[in-house]
Amino acid sequence: MLVEIRNVSKTYETDGTGIPVLENINFAVEDNDFICIVGPSGCGKSTLLRIIIGLEKPTSGEVFFKGKVIAPDNPKVAMVFQNFALFPWLTVKENIELILESKGVNDKQRENIACKYIKSVGLDGFEKVYPRELSGGMKQRVGFARALAVEPVLLCMDEPFSSLDALTAQNLKDELLMLWADKNMPPDAVIMVTHNVEEAVYMANRIIVLSPRPGKVVADLRIELERPRNRKDPEFYRWVDKVFSLII
Ligand code: ADP
Ligand code: MG
Repeated sequence: MLVEIRNVSKTYETDGTGIPVLENINFAVEDNDFICIVGPSGCGKSTLLRIIIGLEKPTSGEVFFKGKVIAPDNPKVAMVFQNFALFPWLTVKENIELILESKGVNDKQRENIACKYIKSVGLDGFEKVYPRELSGGMKQRVGFARALAVEPVLLCMDEPFSSLDALTAQNLKDELLMLWADKNMPPDAVIMVTHNVEEAVYMANRIIVLSPRPGKVVADLRIELERPRNRKDPEFYRWVDKVFSLII
């Protein structure tokens, strides 16, 4: 078991009234899982992901990473954000080197690792370019390169494809699935938040469905479809329908 989410609840206190956002969430992430978390807008998906990576504290309950309570600076965990979250005043390479520096990687290695992962996401030649000069799809490639550069065991992603055009998104999805399946490349496990059910069925080996706020786990499904998955396969559509029927 890689990650264990145990009895996690979260209530936000806003002007004296508590808003319950997550209620008693329990599930475990195995070493090679690709988990998609789906649920209606506002049900607490992003909050849950921030709690899983240790960026936010649950009101009660715990998250364990390899048996220890998760810490926000865990070098084995990386995050890809929906809005890319790049520093506009740094080049592509510098954006990646910065995160490596914060993890204590030395000068020379930083450059090598940054170049390796810029290449792995198909951005070679763009090392010295600033984010404003890149399209949305390219910015998200930088987001992926930055997350992968720390060679995370666990990669967390919050709707990473939702602001990209369909074709770019599809290419990035397939590249990510290849990296996940490649035993010599990070990451081992992925947790991805999405509101796109078809995307979840395409990518996940497990789909966790949350109820409307406060989010509770209403289903934990193992998607038994062969890879690469075919959206035109009737079996694929049975899964999409099944997941849809569970989202209220
Ligand atoms: P989702 O990602 O599923 O759309 P979120 O986790 O972003 O949902 O938010 C769940 C609920 O918690 C929403 O009602 C949101 O307004 C509220 N919320 C999120 N973050 C905060 C915060 N920092 N303070 C107060 N309320 C918050
Ligand atoms: Mg969200």
